[in-house]
This record gives sequence, structure tokens and C-alpha cells, in this order.
Amino acid sequence: MADNEIHTAWIVRKYIEQSKISGFDAMDYAQRRHEVGKLRKAELLRLQKSPNRNHNKQTKKNYRQTDAYIHLSHAERMSLIEELADLVGSWSFARLFGESINKIYFDPSRARMSADEQALEQLVSRFEQYLKIVAKSTNERNLFGALIHDNNETVSKKHTGLMKRFHKYGTFWTSIEKIIETPLFVNSELTSLVQIADLCCYALRRYFENGETDLLNRIKDRFDRKNSKIVGMRHFTDPTCQCMFCQ
Ligand SMILES: [Zn+2]
Repeated sequence: MADNEIHTAWIVRKYIEQSKISGFDAMDYAQRRHEVGKLRKAELLRLQKSPNRNHNKQTKKNYRQTDAYIHLSHAERMSLIEELADLVGSWSFARLFGESINKIYFDPSRARMSADEQALEQLVSRFEQYLKIVAKSTNERNLFGALIHDNNETVSKKHTGLMKRFHKYGTFWTSIEKIIETPLFVNSELTSLVQIADLCCYALRRYFENGETDLLNRIKDRFDRKNSKIVGMRHFTDPTCQCMFCQ
């Protein structure tokens, strides 16, 4: 696994082939890979004859995305993600910032921007405030921060444009002085901290959508706080929400 991307949503899935192999847990890794590979090859052959080409394409994609993990049982994959979440939770030097928007409660015409743009504006503002506070409290005038994004062509154009606007006119909440101008776009396969951010997003999504607390509790202490109150994370939703961030 050492050189493979940690893509949480793909790792924690149930792989149907594994449940079809009797004695899977007792096999060694090579055997497990071999058995899963056999079932997958047979399935691809079967799909080749099917008239639904999309299904074939989607299956190939699923196989490609999960190939690095097929030798690990579901329990082993879950404990990998839990261990990583514990590791993030132990990083006392790290701060997490996040924004979660429930689209049912978001009105783009009133906000005069898309949910995606509003989320970026929120994150940028909070990160900027954080940098200003640290710069002031450490008397470090030359302290700056950079934004590193998972690369995606449409997003990169849009976010670069938005950042230029924020630099020129500020966000709704603050001027931008501490975040360097151009966001940096990286390939997440090669950048482990983007994978960690993805894991944190996964934990948040599972909490908001399914009420699962296990992963989130492991990383919760890392959200930026002011006077012990979480200020690094915002949940934009029904005003009566009682979640750990809205309370
Ligand atoms: Zn909430």
C-alpha cells in the first residue's frame, strides 16, 4: 500500500467479490489478490458481451480505483482509515478548516454565487483570519499561507479567478494579505496531504449525511478553535440544526 493513493471513499466500500470468496480472511495477500482478480476478469468478460457499454466502463473504473486494496478485508481497510484518522487527530501542529453546505438551504440567487464559490470564500476568509492571528501573536510579519487544491481543470480555472478577485477586493469578511496569490494545484495521487484532506471530508460527510461520529471524533480536536469553541468549521443548513458544529 505504501506507494498507493489513500482514497477513502473507495477504500471503505464493500467489495462484492470478497464476499463471494469462501475463506477469504484466511488467505494470504497474494492468494486474495489472485482470487479477486479471477472474479473481476470473469465479470469483465461477461460484460463485454453485454449491450450496455456504460456498465462495462463503470465497472472497469471501479476495479481500477480499488485495485490497490483488494487484498485487504473490509475490516482491515476500515482499521487503516481509523488509524489514519487517529494520526491526524494527534497532529497538535495541524488545524482543520471546513465548510459544509446543505444545498436545500442554499439559495444561489440570494447569495449571488454558487455553493462552491461560497465555500471557497468561507474557507479563504477563515484561513486568512487564522494567519493574521498567528502572525500577530508571534510577531512574525513575514508569515504567509498557501492554498493547495486537488487538481481538476474546471475547478482550477474558477478558483484561480476567484482568488484573484479576493486579493483585489477582499472577501465579504476580510481583506486578503496573508494568503499568497495563486492557488497551487496538485495531483492528489502524488500528494499525501491532499489525501488526508479527502479523508477529513469523508468523515464530515458521513457525519452530516448518516450521523456517523466515529471517524469525525478522531479528528475533531484539530478543527481551529477560539476560546475552545470550534471556529474552523461551519455547517450551512437548517437554522435549528443541533449538530456538534451548530450547537
Ligand atoms: Zn449543523
